[in-house]
Amino acid sequence: MSVRVRFAPSPTGSLHLGNALTAVANRRFADERGGALVLRIDDTDPIRTIEGGEQAILADLEWLGIAWDEGPVRQSERAGLYSGMARAAERDGAAQRDVDGSLRLDGLTLLRADGSATYQLATVADDLDLGITHVIRGSDHRPNEEPQRRIARALGGELPEVMHHGLLLGEDGKKLSKRHGHASVADFREDGIPAAALRAYLEELGLPSHDVHLDRARIGRLAIEAIAGMSDDELAAAADAPVELARALRGARTLVEARAIARQIGTPAAAALPTDALPTLERFAELRMGAPDRLAEDDARAIVRELKAVGGDLRAVRLALTGEPRGPELWTVVAALPAAEALERVRRAADSLSHR
Ligand code: GLU
Repeated sequence: MSVRVRFAPSPTGSLHLGNALTAVANRRFADERGGALVLRIDDTDPIRTIEGGEQAILADLEWLGIAWDEGPVRQSERAGLYSGMARAAERDGAAQRDVDGSLRLDGLTLLRADGSATYQLATVADDLDLGITHVIRGSDHRPNEEPQRRIARALGGELPEVMHHGLLLGEDGKKLSKRHGHASVADFREDGIPAAALRAYLEELGLPSHDVHLDRARIGRLAIEAIAGMSDDELAAAADAPVELARALRGARTLVEARAIARQIGTPAAAALPTDALPTLERFAELRMGAPDRLAEDDARAIVRELKAVGGDLRAVRLALTGEPRGPELWTVVAALPAAEALERVRRAADSLSHR
């Protein structure tokens, strides 16, 4: 029988990192066995269903590069299946109607008095109906296994094989939540962690048998590696910058830093320069005029080296070009700017000096 697994988030918005771990583990389990991953949206609980929640999850999965083979299958569209399966169990004598009209199985409610399915019934009915062979989910669902096994039998089937993985905790060992600063995929994305880095971290964790503490330092190192692994085009696109800036973006540890560098070079702030900076600016202008419009690494490094050799004020050049006292290596800034733009910035800085 070919392997079929499912990832079944509730549509509460951007995926909790622990849920993303479950998704990655299911994808890998299917891939290693030539199986299929079904995406199921558990959207019957109004408290756990928020506007746009499903789209946020689909966007997170796409961002992380986690594809699904079937779905999304929405529980809210399958009420008929659940009540049909429950009624069959009632006819078989496996489930009993309560005085209040609900349908029960040894104390477990399958259908509420209003006829709606409980989470336990819906999830088991789906696992059977969708032909799921293995359930892989977080160990917070461990207490559900035994009741779900009984429900599966009452529905005339067998629960798939169930594997529970350890949970992802905060660095303090408590349940990972907003309190820790980063809990959802969106939190890491907004912090500039590349998708490849977050995916690699989740792949590294695999299917942990015990709870694991989030290792932010590890994610930070993977982010640096992921940025190093990007082509110039990829990095520039990720930082919303023209590709000429790629070399300057290389020093960034996150995509947020890369975007800040791109802004610094693209739309520099005005900065006050030391009054004795003029000779350095003049020397820079001479060197820049004598070099090609678009600079190769060697040309750009040569300009900076030459300025240093004559005791030039490199900080003043940086201030004139970027408006900031610190930033990426100066040669990368010099290389990022076409000649006319660099000369214009230096001229403006020199003007502001002579007018003081
Ligand atoms: N919808 C449940 C959750 O979000 C998952 C149910 C299951 O995997 O059995 O945790």
